[in-house]
Amino acid sequence: MANIGIDLGTTHSLVAVVIDGQPRCLLDDDERALLPSAVRYDAKGQPICVGYPALAAATQPGGTTFTSVKRFMGRSGAEVADDAQRFHYDLVQGDDRAVRFVVGEKEITPIEVSAMILRLLHARAEECLFGRPGGAVITVPAYFDDAQRQSTRDAAMIAGVKVLRLLNEPTAAALAYGLNQGTNGQTVAVFDLGGGTFDISILKLDDGIFQVLSTAGDTHLGGDDFDQALAELVLNQAGISDVDGPTYRAAITAAELTKRALSDSDTATFKATLAGQEVEAQIDADSFENLIRPIIERAGEACRQALGDAALSPADIDQVVLVGGSTRMPMVRKFVAKLFGKSPHSGLDPDRVVALGAAMQADILTGESALAEDMLLLDVVPLSLGLEMMGGVVERLIPRCSAIPAAQSQTFTTHVDNQTAVDLHVVQGERELVGDCRSLGRFKLSGLPPQPAGVPRIKVEFMVDADGILRVSAIDAATGISTDIEVQPSYGLSEDQIEAMLEAAIDNAETDVDERLLIDARIEAEQIASQVAKAIKCDPDMLEPGEKEAIETGLSALKDAMAGNDRQRITAGAHHLDEVTAPFAQRRIERDLQLAISGKAAADVAKALGI
Ligand code: AMP
Repeated sequence: MANIGIDLGTTHSLVAVVIDGQPRCLLDDDERALLPSAVRYDAKGQPICVGYPALAAATQPGGTTFTSVKRFMGRSGAEVADDAQRFHYDLVQGDDRAVRFVVGEKEITPIEVSAMILRLLHARAEECLFGRPGGAVITVPAYFDDAQRQSTRDAAMIAGVKVLRLLNEPTAAALAYGLNQGTNGQTVAVFDLGGGTFDISILKLDDGIFQVLSTAGDTHLGGDDFDQALAELVLNQAGISDVDGPTYRAAITAAELTKRALSDSDTATFKATLAGQEVEAQIDADSFENLIRPIIERAGEACRQALGDAALSPADIDQVVLVGGSTRMPMVRKFVAKLFGKSPHSGLDPDRVVALGAAMQADILTGESALAEDMLLLDVVPLSLGLEMMGGVVERLIPRCSAIPAAQSQTFTTHVDNQTAVDLHVVQGERELVGDCRSLGRFKLSGLPPQPAGVPRIKVEFMVDADGILRVSAIDAATGISTDIEVQPSYGLSEDQIEAMLEAAIDNAETDVDERLLIDARIEAEQIASQVAKAIKCDPDMLEPGEKEAIETGLSALKDAMAGNDRQRITAGAHHLDEVTAPFAQRRIERDLQLAISGKAAADVAKALGI
């Protein structure tokens, strides 16, 4: 059974496999390797299509096309609020830290959207390989934190894809370039600028082994930013200020086309129908470069940080490798050449390198690969991992840039006499105070025997596995009481939630809607019934002979209907009650008006109104 490599990209995703010793990207029926990372949901929140058709429908009303969801993976609503606004996605407001989009009556997580993409790629592989692939290596940006990695795994689980391991994208690219066969001791910078994320990794080659010396990046930097800058410029110039979702998407699509055209020529035309207006703008390469320069400069900061972390200067870098669609831009190439003082290496298709490298790693993991012997990939922990201590300070257990897999333990004690439980708060980040770091999870070691403060010895162990996923355990040395909890990142989904999602994947749409309508009908009927009951009680003397009985009969019929699940019966009952009470209600209104007109005291009017 062949293993596959998947590049789950912000803009595009690909699947590749090694055939006859060569990594190849698998194509769709139209011979395309790239699958736009776009998923279309209808107005009710049901997924309709993935990829090109989803992208094509993006500007259509009656649904939502999600693109760039990788930006939302493993993030909280607060962290991605700006992005959500820019993409016109509605988010669920709440204290739940895993972000959810709202489409119709449904709530959809970025994990589910990613799962749709993974499912399609997996199906493509199954079709091309005439059988189910064994497992998959899925690539993630080197800068992805624990929650983002966990979310990627969750998406694969929902899609039914068996994850062999997660691999940092630059490391995959280095593999694809066969850099392991380069000169020993050679240092390589992998500059990866895609649609939504930027990664810079400094790798060192030693006997065919990649060691990642450092990684840095920005999860909010890429081609999308260039598109947005250009779209906003043109919208401004055209004087369109009231920008709705479809208009914005149309502007982004046209901006992206213009940007691509500018990679091959000195001038290009932006053309789109925006808010009913035919907009055409001539863009030249110079003004486009001036527009995006501040965005590209941000990549420079991350490069300098990565070099600093590896204690290297640009002159120490022997080779620079370009990855990601945005590195096709001449300005990006010039920028990289200037930054590192050498021309970047770009022999492979920058869109495909990561998937090809992932396929090679997947092949190596079959254990029967002819590709590489003794090849080992060393990745590093992108951000330091630690525990909250008294006073809200952070004790770092695994420092950033430690090679993974990594394990580290430390012994702690209690601060209060007779403490029987210890709260453990796992955080990620470089700052000294917990408030400035990112909370990954909390758990409790309880059942400790009461002892004076400072006596218990609690050993806490941090383990980061080969995928960069963190597990934390705590053990009381005296009693052996332990918690062996896998730290679920606060932004990820629990196993239960994933299971619930799997179940919900079975098409529930119709029953969901029916249930919702029944609830609405009941609420409305309840309101009518209680208003009528109150009115009879308040104004019994305003009822005509026989009217009271008719209303009471209607009321009890409605209550009977409400006890059942027949929505039509409830609606009919409410309607009937409304009808039989109409003359009585009319008389009350007239009386109230009279009272108001004749200048009765407000309190009397209120009393008469029964409020
Ligand atoms: P990736 O995330 O690696 O798939 O990169 C996708 C990004 O590359 C998108 O923002 C594309 O607009 C951009 N891109 C692809 N081809 C070109 C090109 N020829 N010129 C400029 N940008 C491109």
